[in-house]
Amino acid sequence: MGTFQIDFGESRKSKIVGIDLGTTNSLVAYMDLTGPRIIDDAEGRKIVPSTVSLTPDGKLVAGEPAKELLLTAPDRTVYSVKRLMGRGVADVQEELKLFPFRIAEDSDSVIKLRLGDRTFTPPEISAAVLKQLKENAEAALGAPVTEAVITVPAYFNDAQRQATKDAGRLAGLEVLRLVNEPTAASLAYGLDKRKDGVIAVYDFGGGTFDISILRLHDGIFEVLATNGDTHLGGDDIDNLLLRIALEDVQSEWSEDLTADSEGVQRLRRAVIHAKEELSFVPQARIELAYKGKTYQRMIDRELFERLIAPVVERTLAPCRACLADAKLTPEQIDEVVMVGGSTRIPLVRSAVERLFKTKPHTELNPDEVVALGAAVQAGILAGDVEDKLLLDVTPLSLGIETMGGVVSKLIHRNSTIPASATETFTTAVDGQRNVLIHVLQGERELVKDARSLARFDLKDIQPMPAGLARIEVRFLIDANGILNVTARDARTGKEQSVEVKPSYGLTEEQVEAMIQESFDKAEEDLRERQVREARVEADNILAATGKAQKSDAWKEMPAEERAAIDAAKRDLESVYNSSDHRVINEKIEALNQATRQLAENMMNTAVRGALKGTKVD
Ligand code: ADP
Ligand code: MG
Repeated sequence: MGTFQIDFGESRKSKIVGIDLGTTNSLVAYMDLTGPRIIDDAEGRKIVPSTVSLTPDGKLVAGEPAKELLLTAPDRTVYSVKRLMGRGVADVQEELKLFPFRIAEDSDSVIKLRLGDRTFTPPEISAAVLKQLKENAEAALGAPVTEAVITVPAYFNDAQRQATKDAGRLAGLEVLRLVNEPTAASLAYGLDKRKDGVIAVYDFGGGTFDISILRLHDGIFEVLATNGDTHLGGDDIDNLLLRIALEDVQSEWSEDLTADSEGVQRLRRAVIHAKEELSFVPQARIELAYKGKTYQRMIDRELFERLIAPVVERTLAPCRACLADAKLTPEQIDEVVMVGGSTRIPLVRSAVERLFKTKPHTELNPDEVVALGAAVQAGILAGDVEDKLLLDVTPLSLGIETMGGVVSKLIHRNSTIPASATETFTTAVDGQRNVLIHVLQGERELVKDARSLARFDLKDIQPMPAGLARIEVRFLIDANGILNVTARDARTGKEQSVEVKPSYGLTEEQVEAMIQESFDKAEEDLRERQVREARVEADNILAATGKAQKSDAWKEMPAEERAAIDAAKRDLESVYNSSDHRVINEKIEALNQATRQLAENMMNTAVRGALKGTKVD
């Protein structure tokens, strides 16, 4: 607590909200004095269905009204648009088969969806949902809302994240941060208060299943692994029940309802209602009154569980794969967090408990937990929450080895991920054909003190005089923390890459130790780095001078100038092993001065040669 505190209370006009932009449902939440809280709409509803419809007068409406229109105007209404965010037509063929998306003919890299007689991109559709949430928040808070934290699945790539940000901008919201959904859920449970631990977040929603394993250390959440099934959720359970109900209707009414889309939608609602009740009571009724006829059936939990057991089982394989990817056993999971409406089902809870051997967190509402966590993050950004938190960051710097055994860092420690960086390097030797890319991790300056992650050769680059080749090295850490390193010869376009998981095999204590050591050795490291860099430069200039001394220009030089150059060379060689970089640099500068005329003469000779049409080497 500082001595001076500035109160922005009233002057901060805009409020920052947290938004869960879900595949099926979306919610908005806000941090007030008591903690995070979901914001209701005018009718007191918390959940805004992620459904959007184009009204006859050309307006996009979102939420419950749009969901109603799904029944009567399916050709103007769309849902599950999150599946298309940031993706091209080629990426979503599977989705197009499974969902009634109407894609405009002129879609290619950018998908356009047809609603009635108009077309919209997925971010435009999502923006309609966000606008509704923004309006609800403004009405409830009595203040403009222009800034938000929005959650995204941990596996979302750059393009999907960018599309989500675009949707925010189109809705008039500045997206201050995108937070991974499992991280948000963990924040909602206050798990960041633990000093460290491993958290599994099991998210079983309407149409998707995600499992994420996070490692928490000192308030930093790191995604160790993610897995899941993008076509597994409450919808699959609904379909099982719907099939039974359709068969009943067929035999009771002697009528095939399957071709009647409104009838099917109404029956679907009826089975969903019964399914949701069954999470709390031992039996529930499926009820439909349609076109003057009625259908009723009781379903008990025993039958229900037998029916859905295969669906629940299908969530467990990704969980096991995720544990394996994180190189963890179920016993090493400290906390399990339940997210998504389908985790209310008792059978789901018991299956998860059995797998992870831990009682999962179910205290918070599973539909709300992600939005609540987003609000916590919003509160942190607004300064309402005192704890300093760093979310989803790389714990250690990443770089490559450069001349002299020095580490050149491309991505620095605590960068939020996903992150990328590109730098251009060159060759050290004339005519070099291969470049060794040595990928390193750690805070220290020298290769000998860093952790080696990978080595690979970029082969058959175009031979060039030393220093002229251009090798672009690109580091990309994706949302899962996977590091992809690509080296590319800018002249030939030839490239080579490697993928590594930087956090593998490192314990928290080791990370801590590496960081601490870098602080302790900072000064020493810097000195050593400067010396090594000076020696690399000395090598370069000595080599260049040696080469020049074989040229015609050298022979044409006056004897005393040649003697001065020889002397400057000897001076530099004599201080080469000095441990003071300034001494070396001084002699480098002196040799530079001494050879200036020689370099100029060589240039002139080269130009003369070129004009005569002879080959310049
Ligand atoms: P998403 O993250 O995909 O937007 P949600 O987390 O909101 O989805 O979950 C929606 C799913 O949860 C729907 O399939 C819904 O039927 C289901 N669901 C909601 N409440 C219950 C309940 N009480 N019992 C079983 N399933 C439920
Ligand atoms: Mg969700």
